[in-house]
Amino acid sequence: MLQAPPAEPGMREDEVDTPALLIDLDAFEHNLDTMAAFLAPTGAKLRAHAKTHKSPVVARLQMARGAIGQCVQKVGEAEVLAWGGIPDIMVTNQVVGARKLNRLVALARIAQVSVCVDDPAQVAAIEEAAAAAGVRIPVLVEIDVGGARCGVQAGPPAVALAEVIAASKHLSFGGIQAYHGSAQHIREPERRAAAIAGAVEASRRTVEQLRQRGLACPVVGGAGSGSFQHEVASGVYTEIQAGSYAFMDADYARNIEAPPFRHALFVLATVMSAATPHIAVVDAGHKAVPTDSGYPLIAGRPGVSYVGASDEHGKLTVEDPALRPRLGEKLRLIPGHCDPTVDRYDWYVGVRKGRVECLWPVAARGAMA
Ligand code: PLP
Ligand code: MN
Repeated sequence: MLQAPPAEPGMREDEVDTPALLIDLDAFEHNLDTMAAFLAPTGAKLRAHAKTHKSPVVARLQMARGAIGQCVQKVGEAEVLAWGGIPDIMVTNQVVGARKLNRLVALARIAQVSVCVDDPAQVAAIEEAAAAAGVRIPVLVEIDVGGARCGVQAGPPAVALAEVIAASKHLSFGGIQAYHGSAQHIREPERRAAAIAGAVEASRRTVEQLRQRGLACPVVGGAGSGSFQHEVASGVYTEIQAGSYAFMDADYARNIEAPPFRHALFVLATVMSAATPHIAVVDAGHKAVPTDSGYPLIAGRPGVSYVGASDEHGKLTVEDPALRPRLGEKLRLIPGHCDPTVDRYDWYVGVRKGRVECLWPVAARGAMA
């Protein structure tokens, strides 16, 4: 059930009910501007990943600053963006099952929708759905560039699959999807660069072999917030798919030579107990802030650490009792991992200089199918 918004425009930040998902609008706009300025003199475009934000409002703000479209991971996310007026959406993922494919191709009537494959059986299934709907869909070949997740091997297996797509009446060959997920959070810059160098080499080789077979490769897509500078510098990638850059979580801040973005996403929490010395308990536990990438940091409060979570309690400890947050005090938690944090909330509360400016629905919250 959709929850009532935790705030109204004009309120002070400390009046927002908690736990709440906060966007610091100045930091968020800084992040969008930083990415736009970085990409402007390059040949690469931003197709921002909406798995992070799940919001047509955020998507529109990214596109107003030069993003050419959006990526999604799920058909449900594509629906919410297309219905929200976003004109160009790529599913950077495999979509399996007739019901999902029928939903996907139906969107092609209101937006440009493309999708990835790594198996000829999937090409056949998408062709069947597109034919039934009377639409034509660009399909990209996903290649495994080192992440060992989805994707066919680079080179001849990718070319063979591209030829199957190109031979399908209701499909066009859209390019290659070459995302190296496990490289994003490699801490050491040299090792991260080396991982992406391998992805670039695999992509370059595949594009060349496609060309030799007479197939132009309109898109080479990939890259995330931890590595995009390398994919852009290669000149091989045409589209960058960063998502977390807009919000910048605590885990990305742990990369050595971390991405050049500010923390813009917070979980606002209230201290609900301070009954034990050295301990303060906030109303944001596992259900409010996922811990798959570590506990959240406490913004602007050195010496205060989030050290343990249960379902609805977050335990903070202090080095010095004088630093302990007071009962009722509101604190900004910087989530370890922004994407699953966003998916916990119905509303973004946009704040600027201590005041609530806007409320945006997390419209694709829970879109797992
Ligand atoms: N592209 C794909 C295919 C992804 O799976 C992801 C994230 O997992 C991204 C891009 C965006 O990565 P990030 O949020 O780290 O920028
Ligand atoms: Mn993520």
